[in-house]
Amino acid sequence: MSVKDQTKDLLQKLGVDVAALEGGDLAVNTPTTGEVIANVKLASADQISAQIDKAHDAFKVWRKVPAPRRGELVRLLGEELRLHKDELGRLVSIEAGKIPSEGLGEVQEMIDICDFAVGLSRQLYGLTIATERADHRMMETWHPLGVVGIISAFNFPVAVWAWNAALALACGNATIWKPSEKTPLTAMACQAIMDKALAKFGDAPEGLATMFVADRVGGEVMVDHEKVALVSATGSTRMGREVGPRLAKRFARSILELGGNNAGIVCPSADLDMAVRAIAFGAMGTAGQRCTSTRRLFVHESIYDTLVPQLKKAYEGVSIGNPLTSDALVGPLIDKDAASNMEKALAAAKAAGGKIVGGERVDVEGNEGAYYYRPAVVEMQTQSGPMFEETFAPILYVVKYTDFDDAIEMQNAVGAGLSSMVFTLNVREAENFLSASGSDCGIANVNIGTSGAEIGGAFGGEKETGGGRESGSDAWKGYMRRATNTVNYGTELPLAQGVSFDI
Ligand code: NAD
Repeated sequence: MSVKDQTKDLLQKLGVDVAALEGGDLAVNTPTTGEVIANVKLASADQISAQIDKAHDAFKVWRKVPAPRRGELVRLLGEELRLHKDELGRLVSIEAGKIPSEGLGEVQEMIDICDFAVGLSRQLYGLTIATERADHRMMETWHPLGVVGIISAFNFPVAVWAWNAALALACGNATIWKPSEKTPLTAMACQAIMDKALAKFGDAPEGLATMFVADRVGGEVMVDHEKVALVSATGSTRMGREVGPRLAKRFARSILELGGNNAGIVCPSADLDMAVRAIAFGAMGTAGQRCTSTRRLFVHESIYDTLVPQLKKAYEGVSIGNPLTSDALVGPLIDKDAASNMEKALAAAKAAGGKIVGGERVDVEGNEGAYYYRPAVVEMQTQSGPMFEETFAPILYVVKYTDFDDAIEMQNAVGAGLSSMVFTLNVREAENFLSASGSDCGIANVNIGTSGAEIGGAFGGEKETGGGRESGSDAWKGYMRRATNTVNYGTELPLAQGVSFDI
C-alpha cells in the first residue's frame, strides 16, 4: 500500500472525514519519501474568528463545570489515546518522519499528561495566608482564563497540543489549536480522538476544544484575537519574536516555548559509556530535530582522545533509513529547507576550521524527494561560527576544555537557554552545575542527556527559549488567573498598615 493510502486508511479508522484530504491548497508531504499524501484546505480568517467566538461561548459554560468533572473529559481523552496509540504513533512517523518507538513515545507522552491533568483536576488549590488584621482571612483562588490558543511546531506534532490542552481544559479553559502547516494530518487525527472523548463525556459545550489548519497568517489571526486570553506558542525563536510582542501589545498572556541550543559537559570522572549513549540519543535521535537535541559538547582535555573516537564510531555505525520500512535509528529531515540549513551550517563550520565526520546526504531506497543525512560530529578549536545558532539538524559540535568554570561559561554563552547536561561523578562539579552560577537553562541534568524529558517536571527554558513553562510541576498556574481574597468576619473595619480614615 502506498504511504498516501496508508495515511488515508489510518485517518479513516480514526474517524477523520477523508474528503478533507483532497482538493485543498496546502500540500502535505511525508518526509519519509517526499511524496504528497494529502491536499488540505486552509481555514480563512473569518472561519478562525468564528471558531474563536464559539470557543469563547463554550468557555463561559465550561468554567462553571466542577474541576473534577472537567478532569473526566481529560480522562476520557487519555483512554481514547490508549485505544488509538498505534494508529496515531504511525501517523506521527508518516508525517514527521520519526522512528516508530519515538512516534509511539510521543503518544505515550500525551497519555501521561492526561493522567497528570486528571489528578490535577482535584488539586487546583491556592494558599491561605496569615493576615495582619483581626477576624480576617486571606486566601488565593485560581480561576480559568478563557480561550487558550495553542500553536505547535512540526517536530512534536501531537504531544505539544496534549501538554497544553490537557492542562488548559482541566483548568476550565476552552482551547483552539493551530498545528504546524507541515503536520496538519496528525492534528486532524487528534481532533477526531478528542471528538470521541467529547461524545463519551456527553454534555461538554460545543466548540470547547477544536483545531484549524493554517499557516502563520492564520496563526496571527488567533494571536491578535481579543477573545484569546493566552497563546501557548511552540516553535522557533524567530516565531516567538513575532508572536510575543503582538500578544504583549494587547496584554494577552503568552507561554513561549522556543528554540534551544543545548550543550553538555563531559568531565574527567564521567562514566564514558553512559555519556556516549546519552550523547548519541541526544544528538542523533529524531535526526537532531528536537528542541532539546544535544548540539554542543565540551569535553575535558584529559578524556577528549578517549571519548571523541568512541563518538565518531557511534556516528559512523548508526543506521539511517525510512522509519516506515526499516528499523533504522535515524530518519529523515523534515524538508528541503532543513537540509539546506544543515549543509549551510556544515559549510560555515568548515570555514571556521571545524573537522567534520559525517554530514553527507544518504540515498535511502532511492527516495530522491526525501532528505536523509548521516549525523555529523564537528570538532571545533573554540566555540565559534554556527555554534551560536540552533541548526535544526543532527550536527554535534565538540570543543575541548581545560577548566570547568570555562566550560560552564561557554555553555551559557548562547542566546537560547533550554536544556543542558553534565556527565561527572564529582559531586562538586555536579552541584556547581546545578547552582545559581551553573547552567542557565530551564533544564539542567546530571548524568542524563539533554532530551527526553518526563511530563512530571515543568518544561521550558530561559532567554531566547522564551521563559514559558508547560507540562508538570505547577505549570498549570500559567493557564489560570489568581485572585487574592480577603474576608472580614469581624465587626470592625481595620485598615492595613495601621492607616486611619474615620469619617
Ligand atoms: P516554526 O517557528 O517555523 O513554526 C512553529 C509554529 O509557529 C507553526 O505552527 C507556524 O505556523 C507558527 N508560526 C510561525 N510564525 C508565526 C506567526 N508570526 N504567528 C503565528 N504563528 C506563527 O518552527 P518549526 O520549524 O515548526 O519547529 C522547529 C522549532 O521549534 C525549533 O526552533 C525548535 O527548537 C522549536 N521547538 C521548541 C520547543 C520547546 O518546547 N521549546 C518544542 C518543539 C520545537
